[in-house]
Amino acid sequence: MAARFYADPRGRSCADCTPELRALRNCDGKSNPRFREVWGDTIADRCPLAVITPLSRALLRHYLRYRDHGLLPRVGGTGEQSARLMEGMDLLRVMFKA
Ligand SMILES: [Zn+2]
Repeated sequence: MAARFYADPRGRSCADCTPELRALRNCDGKSNPRFREVWGDTIADRCPLAVITPLSRALLRHYLRYRDHGLLPRVGGTGEQSARLMEGMDLLRVMFKA
């Protein structure tokens, strides 16, 4: 279930959650304390959209574009990309295989 959230990070935020989903997903951190999302080694107790940072969202977007379409944010190959981007994408590659 967590992979579904993370697999579509394009422009989504917790504000997109409906009132019913907000209660179910524990978006506010109070409405459903038993909520758990397990994704690899990560366990979230709130809606992932409520806690994901803009940097993480950008890394996910770049990772998915590269994985699905072979597109990188900068012109050129992987050697022309930022080290931070490539390290983040390596981490996501491992996490998506988990
Ligand atoms: Zn939410």
